[in-house]
Amino acid sequence: MSTHDTEINRDATRLLRLEGVSVTKVKDDGAGGSTVYVVTSEDSARACPSCGVFATRLKDYRTTAPRHLSCGGRPVSIRWRKARWHCTEVACARGSFTEAIPQVPARMRTTAALREAAGAAVVDGGRTVVQAGRDLGLSWPIVQHCFEHYAAEVLPEDPPVTEAIGIDETRRGKPVWKQDPDTEKWELVADAWHIGFVDAIGGRGLFGQVEGRNAASVADWLSAQPTAWRERICYVAIDLCSTFRAAIHRALPHARVVVDCFHIVQLAQRHLADLRRRLTWKQHGRRARKGDSIYTVRKLLRRNNEDLTDKQRDLLKAELESMGTYGKQIYAAWQGKELLRDLLGLAVTRRHVTPDPSAISTARHRFFAHVADHAHLPELVTLAETVEQWWDGIETYLTTGITNAASEGNNRLIKLEARNAFGFRNRANQRLRSRCATTRRSRREAHPH
Ligand SMILES: [Zn+2]
Repeated sequence: MSTHDTEINRDATRLLRLEGVSVTKVKDDGAGGSTVYVVTSEDSARACPSCGVFATRLKDYRTTAPRHLSCGGRPVSIRWRKARWHCTEVACARGSFTEAIPQVPARMRTTAALREAAGAAVVDGGRTVVQAGRDLGLSWPIVQHCFEHYAAEVLPEDPPVTEAIGIDETRRGKPVWKQDPDTEKWELVADAWHIGFVDAIGGRGLFGQVEGRNAASVADWLSAQPTAWRERICYVAIDLCSTFRAAIHRALPHARVVVDCFHIVQLAQRHLADLRRRLTWKQHGRRARKGDSIYTVRKLLRRNNEDLTDKQRDLLKAELESMGTYGKQIYAAWQGKELLRDLLGLAVTRRHVTPDPSAISTARHRFFAHVADHAHLPELVTLAETVEQWWDGIETYLTTGITNAASEGNNRLIKLEARNAFGFRNRANQRLRSRCATTRRSRREAHPH
């Protein structure tokens, strides 16, 4: 082969992504694909796998057909003529061996390029194992193996350093009930939850997931992470979950808990709805129906003050006042919810811009004073107690603006991933796939191809 031919050959193997072999011939296979004949070009292929000495005594040749990627939109069948060598080293126990190159190690029936493509299709491309297998002509177990291998290569072993993490739980699949044949009682036999740990501010997705719903599972995962990573965490965003709070105090004693205030507003809405239903029963002895004042304004009660027109605000007040005492109490509860929203609305929207502390204490005082004036409304009192219990976390939210929104976003991706896979049987597999799905974007940004 001339130098020029060698150059062309190198380009051909580069195009095929088959380093270590040289193309000798390409034939049309008569079925829309190409048959590519190659021979070994890498000298190290004749190194004995046992002793490492280059063999010189040829035994014979054999041709193998490792599966490979298609090229230029056409399926490619490889025919690799490879040598078998005698190892003549006296001290070596091996009699003979067949050539191997990194692209096709011994006994592999697929090329590394094909296996990598299969792994990347699932991890980076978001394809399911079934789809990737269909696209590349590989079986499910092989693609699954490639996926696990590729994920281990590209996912960081330790979570990336961040100042704030978010923790929350998602249900894995549907709860399963079973009837005990003896007692005829229904029992919950499977109700698996995954607790997810996410990057709350950097958008780097899911750091990890554990099964369970208790403080121990959270503390165990956190404690298992590298000390340097744990020390850098200043904030942990959670919902109103005292189990998680206890676990954080135990595993990350220096970190501050941030309460996701979206959940506080939700809680306020729920308490208001409870109170409205309770007082409607007291007033009418039944549920509200068309024609009742409370029926007219029940949708307005759910709205935020700033979303009401002046006319609607007047209507809300007038209708509730026309109901008498109970109506006035419902109105007071609505005001309480709005005062709490005023307080939460003081949160910084951009980080590192500290809100006025006196504004926070004024708004907080107004809310608690309003509740004190209406201490006969248990729903309002319970809400105020929750705010009091979680005040540290609420205040940290107000001054940092950190939320657990990243967890919610990831949960959507995780559910989508589960739906695409028609549910997961294997939970470890589900966790790995979830991590790949939620870190996809940040990995792409870090290593753009
Ligand atoms: Zn040897």
